[in-house]
Amino acid sequence: MSTGEPRRLEIVPPPHPKTTPGFCETGQPMCQQPARLYAAGWRCRDHQPSTPQYDAA
Ligand SMILES: [Zn+2]
Repeated sequence: MSTGEPRRLEIVPPPHPKTTPGFCETGQPMCQQPARLYAAGWRCRDHQPSTPQYDAA
């Protein structure tokens, strides 16, 4: 009979990868482009919320 090894508690990462501040946290797979912080979270230009922007036209 083999001696039972003590079971280690493995650290299981959360299902969703941790977001990096400053990078877009939306999209599937995660966008992770350089982003700005909005009320909804970090969003890049492509994913930014539909808020009026200052148009420098
Ligand atoms: Zn994005």
